[in-house]
Amino acid sequence: MSNATAVPTASAQLDEFNPFLAMAERFETAADHLGLDPGVRDVLRTPDRELTVAIPVEMDDGSIRVFKGYRVQHNFLRGPCKGGIRFAPDVHLDEIRALAAWMTWKCSVVGIPFGGAKGGVVCNPPELSNGELERITRRYTASILDILGPDRDVPAPDINTNEQTMAWIMDTYSMHQRRTSTAVVTGKPLNLGGSRGRREATGRGVMISCREALKLVGLRPENTRVVVQGSGNVGGIGALLLHREGYRILSLSDMFGAIHNENGLDVPAVLAWLKDHKRLEGFPGADHLPHSQQLFLDCDVLIPAATENQITSQNVDRIQAKLIVEGANGPTTAVADKELEKRGVVVVPDILANAGGVTVSYFEWVQDRMGYFWTEEIVNSRLEQTMVQAFGEVQEKASEHNVSLRTAAYILAIDRVVTVYRLRGIFA
Ligand code: NAD
Repeated sequence: MSNATAVPTASAQLDEFNPFLAMAERFETAADHLGLDPGVRDVLRTPDRELTVAIPVEMDDGSIRVFKGYRVQHNFLRGPCKGGIRFAPDVHLDEIRALAAWMTWKCSVVGIPFGGAKGGVVCNPPELSNGELERITRRYTASILDILGPDRDVPAPDINTNEQTMAWIMDTYSMHQRRTSTAVVTGKPLNLGGSRGRREATGRGVMISCREALKLVGLRPENTRVVVQGSGNVGGIGALLLHREGYRILSLSDMFGAIHNENGLDVPAVLAWLKDHKRLEGFPGADHLPHSQQLFLDCDVLIPAATENQITSQNVDRIQAKLIVEGANGPTTAVADKELEKRGVVVVPDILANAGGVTVSYFEWVQDRMGYFWTEEIVNSRLEQTMVQAFGEVQEKASEHNVSLRTAAYILAIDRVVTVYRLRGIFA
């Protein structure tokens, strides 16, 4: 048994949970393998642009509130910036910085021509009306308008934002430009230049990554027990696609707790229940568990698909899975990572496992610019091809450098960005 639960100091814990420091630690490990000099590291570590905006909004009761918004563009060496926008009460700049950097590496791992960005607004959507959300979205968009655009920075949905949010952003941008510009955001509704298969893309990518990784641990879908944390776009759809492939989904969770059935959940029925009841609790034929216990269930595969910092120094020694496929961004801290590696647990890192979403976002951007839309079969088969190729390339790097899949994915991603940096040089 590891000694990972030894209580870390308050500042060590703060550092462990700081997503930007977590990203930086993985970056440095990969940069060491690549032998990068300090100047190049500095260029790649530092976000290119950070914008903080105040968003004044008239609330439904006539009062005025000012919300805080961020957009961080980490790097645009390989193309326009790309990255989601999240609405949440605990959004902070270091989190957005980390997520923006992860987008740079993610786009590079799957070889799509984008840099990385991320945005966020500090607000609590369940407490806001549709009208208030629309006014926040439009004012936020207007405030960051100068750095947006199909060739500059292309947002997408993330936690608590959706197709409707993207439609408001697209409309606000288009009205300012005096022309319709669908390619300014992805994850739009189909009727507004969205792509077939985008909604399912991240879950589908998780399913493909899981299938490829299963070969490394000698399992087959029909004898694989899976626990999924989260049941939203990534977790819910990921679980559904895995269920269809024959995996046994033991547990799903939402922000209120988890449900569990040792014989496997009927995932389509669970998702129908969730749609009607807005929470998993009460689903017939399953036990209810607190969050903390779900991660410790005896299973083969754990898919954290909710939020950051879920597998940490404080709980890693109780994780039983042989394989972790990171649907969420940053669900495993750098400290926990080392512990998992020591124990031989295979981790498919976020920048590879959840890259299906940005891959189909790229397809959406391409289709918008062509004005010609693909069938769902074409989207899915191109996604499959991209994910399988990226997985293979990461595996090759892992063997070449004798490192984990995570370090290998960073090595691959950083090396591609460095190659472009050397070709482009420093503009002055
Ligand atoms: P979502 O809002 O659709 O779903 C989030 C889910 O997590 C919900 O079911 C929510 O109830 C649950 N949840 C929240 N806190 C929880 C907790 N403490 N324990 C258990 N469940 C909890 O969001 P999403 O789009 O599915 O995103 C989930 C994660 O995946 C985020 O880290 C996001 O950055 C990442 N991601 C999303 C996409 C995408 O295309 N949507 C792409 C790449 C990465």
